[in-house]
Amino acid sequence: MSEVLKPKTDIGPPHYEEQLPQIIKDNYGKWKYHEYIKPGVLKHVSETGDALYTVRIGSPRLLAITTIREFADLADKYCDGHLRFTSRHNVEFLLSDESKVEPLIEEVEAKGWPVGGTGNCLNNIIHTQGWIHCHSAATDASGTVKAVMDRLYDYFKYDKLPAKLKISMACCLNMCGAVHCSDIAFVGIHRTIPKINDEGVAKGCEIPNVIASCPTGAIKPNPKAKSVSINEEKCMYCGNCYTVCPSLSIMDPKNDGIAIFVGGKVANARSGPQFSRLAIPWLPNTPPRWNELVDAIVNLTEIWVKNAKPGERYGEWIERIGWEKFFEIANLPFTDKHIDDFIFSIPTFRTSTNFKF
Ligand code: SF4
Ligand code: SF4
Repeated sequence: MSEVLKPKTDIGPPHYEEQLPQIIKDNYGKWKYHEYIKPGVLKHVSETGDALYTVRIGSPRLLAITTIREFADLADKYCDGHLRFTSRHNVEFLLSDESKVEPLIEEVEAKGWPVGGTGNCLNNIIHTQGWIHCHSAATDASGTVKAVMDRLYDYFKYDKLPAKLKISMACCLNMCGAVHCSDIAFVGIHRTIPKINDEGVAKGCEIPNVIASCPTGAIKPNPKAKSVSINEEKCMYCGNCYTVCPSLSIMDPKNDGIAIFVGGKVANARSGPQFSRLAIPWLPNTPPRWNELVDAIVNLTEIWVKNAKPGERYGEWIERIGWEKFFEIANLPFTDKHIDDFIFSIPTFRTSTNFKF
């Protein structure tokens, strides 16, 4: 590591260069191309002739310390202690010795971890905190994702899908997941305004902060009650005010639920990046297995698998057949909820009932 990059104190993580496998340090900036070997296995080749093998396994994101230790032991055994976590909660083992690739795969699969999620497979589902951690979650993250993945598990190891399939989950519209840009995405939604506990607001919340926290200006002071009031017309149920004031609870078990979006992507390949668009405005929140949600996602997946041409991402398939046809094939009703007239959405979202492009 250069002198300039050396940390001046012991605060914070070590510089990432210290953590790189030797083969990556040796070939930094020299990688020439990569090959897709099979589901979950990639080979990067350097102009020096060195080859780096990546073995990707899916993780459920929330990991016990014993599981992390298990991964670390595998990394010690096969890859000089090196592994990395991807943004989709995969664990990638980085090997410079080709002869260790198959033994590693055998061992991780024997322990129950799936190897896959590369190429035209289903990627691991990216998701947020849910009920395990976040205060504003309209639904659970790990539970819904587990229920969905239990049904789609085989696609994680199956690379004959029309294109890569990325599914995302966020547990409220603040959207810590990649819902806006994934092929299929589901998001927990609140549909009713926060319930105001005047006494709690008066005693426990800084009213100027509460008012400032609202992105739509829906909150104003209520001096009589030493509290606030909320303009229902302006509220978009984001829960930001609840973040700064626990006496404005937005939880509503009956009305909270899940919306499903489709057709987003980040890639520039073939067509530009696309935002996801609303397909199903609301499904009920039904733990522990969320059957309505799971059936809907499986249906949306299967119609794409069956009808898309090779190479077509979800949104590209819909653009080719038209949204009208998509709703027909998916057997979904088109409702007024599908029309987004939010002022900043005009370039990206549907703004009229005229379907034909
Ligand atoms: Fe919390 Fe919303 Fe992020 Fe979920 S998406 S972790 S509820 S802020
Ligand atoms: Fe404003 Fe969001 Fe609170 Fe509604 S939920 S009042 S939009 S901060």
